[in-house]
Amino acid sequence: LTRLRARLAQSQSTLGRGLLGLLSRERLDEDTWEEIEDTLLTADLGVTPTQELVERLRTRSRVEGLTDPGQARAVLREELITLVDPSLDRSLRTDRHVAENRPAVVLVVGVNGTGKTTTVGKLARVLVAEDRDVLLAAADTFRAAAADQLTTWGDRVGVPTVRGPEGGDPGSVAFEAVKAGIEQEVDTVLVDTAGRLQTKVGLMDELGKIKRVVEKHGPVDEVLLVLDATTGQNGMMQARVFGEVVDVTGVVLTKLDGTAKGGIVVAVQRELGVPVKLVGLGEGADDLAPFDPEEFVDGILG
Ligand code: GDP
Repeated sequence: LTRLRARLAQSQSTLGRGLLGLLSRERLDEDTWEEIEDTLLTADLGVTPTQELVERLRTRSRVEGLTDPGQARAVLREELITLVDPSLDRSLRTDRHVAENRPAVVLVVGVNGTGKTTTVGKLARVLVAEDRDVLLAAADTFRAAAADQLTTWGDRVGVPTVRGPEGGDPGSVAFEAVKAGIEQEVDTVLVDTAGRLQTKVGLMDELGKIKRVVEKHGPVDEVLLVLDATTGQNGMMQARVFGEVVDVTGVVLTKLDGTAKGGIVVAVQRELGVPVKLVGLGEGADDLAPFDPEEFVDGILG
């Protein structure tokens, strides 16, 4: 977790420095409050959370005074943690269903290029490190390269990949993978899906079919939506569409190493009503971390 904080500090601390600099000004006049608001909006926090936070900070500056930099930092830390919401359940349901003798099934969804396949590989690595038996399903049958890329991750991490013919039915690959997972008594099946956002109806058909087919074996445990943190409003639009199409249970926010716009964590949680559970902090196999609100805010505050 300290590594998470260090990596976040690299990318997010310009945001924290900006806010702390503004808050510890001698006089918090209207212009300064506007600058604080702009800083938060620029960090993709979203309009409503920004207004709420500024309101809270205004009140606390009146009541408690924020001129002391230490005090300003403590207040900002507290308010940011509240905004990120530590009460949300961020645990991943990846445990085998022992009584029913079947693996946990995790669908990984999102638009192509957001880091879906990479996330599946990294997550497999985390689970393998915890001594779990994992199986990957290449249900993105539309791009040959996608299945190859997933298989490469599987080889790298030491887990098998189930794949079908190019252009084949994604649902049948997912079905066969879970079937193999049951037969081989694995703990977790991670399903990489196609992310063609052609039309909402097309997407709904595709993902809905995969889910229904997999559910013949038993309920899906997690539907993780992968969003690229660098894409701002575009990412929010994707969250909205996917949220309407599938029951997302958690968000993976990738490429947080490439942007200081960490406010998207709050914006996307509000949009979907589900927590950010994992964050991607680089392209390497070890660059995936469980999302921890306090570590995150401490990263922002540097
Ligand atoms: P997919 O099309 O959604 O499956 O996306 P990929 O997994 O192929 O990832 C697209 C690109 O994003 C690749 O070059 C990845 O290495 C890169 N990528 C994925 N996750 C991260 C991350 O957390 N940080 C950075 N910097 N790059 C990432």
